Amino acid sequence: MSGTPAVNGPTGTFDNVLLESEERRALRKAVSDLGRRYGRSYFLDAVREGRHTDKLWQEAGALGYLGVNLPEEHGGGGGGLAELSIVLEELGAAGCPLLLLIVSPAICGTVIARFGTEEQKRRWLPGLSDGSLRMAFGITEPDAGSNSHRLTTTARRDGSDWLLTGRKVFVSGVDIADATLIVGRTEDARTGRLKPCLFVVERETPGFEFRPIDMELSAPEKQFHIFMDDVRLPADALVGDEDAGLLQLFAGLNPERVMTAAFSIGMGRFALDAAVAYARTRQVWKAPIGSHQAIAHPLAQAHIELELARLMMQKAAFLYDAGDDMAAGEAANMAKYAAAEAGAKAVDQAVHTLGGNGLTAEYGLASLLTASRVGRIAPVSREMILNYVSHHTLGLPKSY
Ligand SMILES: Cc1cc2nc3c(=O)[nH]c(=O)nc-3n(C[C@H](O)[C@H](O)[C@H](O)COP(=O)(O)OP(=O)(O)OC[C@H]3O[C@@H](n4cnc5c(N)ncnc54)[C@H](O)[C@@H]3O)c2cc1C
Repeated sequence: MSGTPAVNGPTGTFDNVLLESEERRALRKAVSDLGRRYGRSYFLDAVREGRHTDKLWQEAGALGYLGVNLPEEHGGGGGGLAELSIVLEELGAAGCPLLLLIVSPAICGTVIARFGTEEQKRRWLPGLSDGSLRMAFGITEPDAGSNSHRLTTTARRDGSDWLLTGRKVFVSGVDIADATLIVGRTEDARTGRLKPCLFVVERETPGFEFRPIDMELSAPEKQFHIFMDDVRLPADALVGDEDAGLLQLFAGLNPERVMTAAFSIGMGRFALDAAVAYARTRQVWKAPIGSHQAIAHPLAQAHIELELARLMMQKAAFLYDAGDDMAAGEAANMAKYAAAEAGAKAVDQAVHTLGGNGLTAEYGLASLLTASRVGRIAPVSREMILNYVSHHTLGLPKSY
């Protein structure tokens, strides 16, 4: 095996060309180099000073990493989710997990590229690709939560315009996004039933109001409540075709799950690398603490579980990129579940390995304890994935 050297760090080694092509390994290495140039301290300083990680975002955009999955004709890299998940994983492994990668290019970019009108593609895709534009994604509602069948945000026609009314909660990055892709419903003219539809709502649209939620998360991206009361939108705010809403929604949700897996795996790798480095040198008895099996085995276990989750993530990305949305759906759910569990466990064990230092600002690991829980809750909780696998894969009956 020759060519691109393995990515730095014990958990980053990916030196088998049968599993990952030369091109993808080169991307992994280049993104890893970029992330390490910024490093954890850049990220944490931004959080402490209330800044955003715009500089890293812009550089990653200029290098073509943010739009690596988007079509070349609209300024993207022409790759797929396999490539985009590498970008997020490696930035996370370098201590800079950019949450908006899950939303802006993965969900919004995908939905617009696959279903948007030509005008919507021209308006948004080049900017989403080079990072000059960002788009948030709002589906969660206060009274619906995990039950998306209860979404009540509704759009009704007023001449050729739409009037959108509803509430959203926990939407990430609304303040820094140029627009938010809102999941609403419109009335089916034939049946009268409400069907899902997606609307691009630009941030400065009159009546589109948002308020930050006070989260206990050390992240540069904030979460927001959104309030919309008869927000007037032009006809072309509706993405694609009114009758294809559900299809569009699912096209965005699978990339979201795969990317959340990448987020968890990257963060888990970062924590594990820090713990392994510490355990190699920290000595309080005759030998470094890493020689005690009580320290070594849980770290080995964390590494194995991250690797397994990564394999599942690659399977999901492969199926999605190959166009098998159904199979990708199951794999993406499983990958998100496995990665969230592996990531949270790796972070927990890393913090423990450092003893008191695990909780110091200097080592920057304790803040990952809450951050690593995000993958267990969003975009779909671990219980809802277990429900999905119980019903969909195993054919067990539903309790709800
Ligand atoms: C940091 C962060 C960022 C986020 N970013 C976004 C974003 O950008 N856009 C967006 O739209 N949303 C976002 N979310 C929202 C996220 O998707 C929701 O929090 C998630 O879907 C869970 O919904 P909920 O919080 O209302 O929990 P609930 O639905 O109230 O669930 C609470 C608990 O009950 C369990 N539960 C619910 N129903 C069942 C059942 N049938 N069986 C078993 N257990 C069940 C859940 O698993 C969970 O543990 C974000 C959330 C966080 C924390």
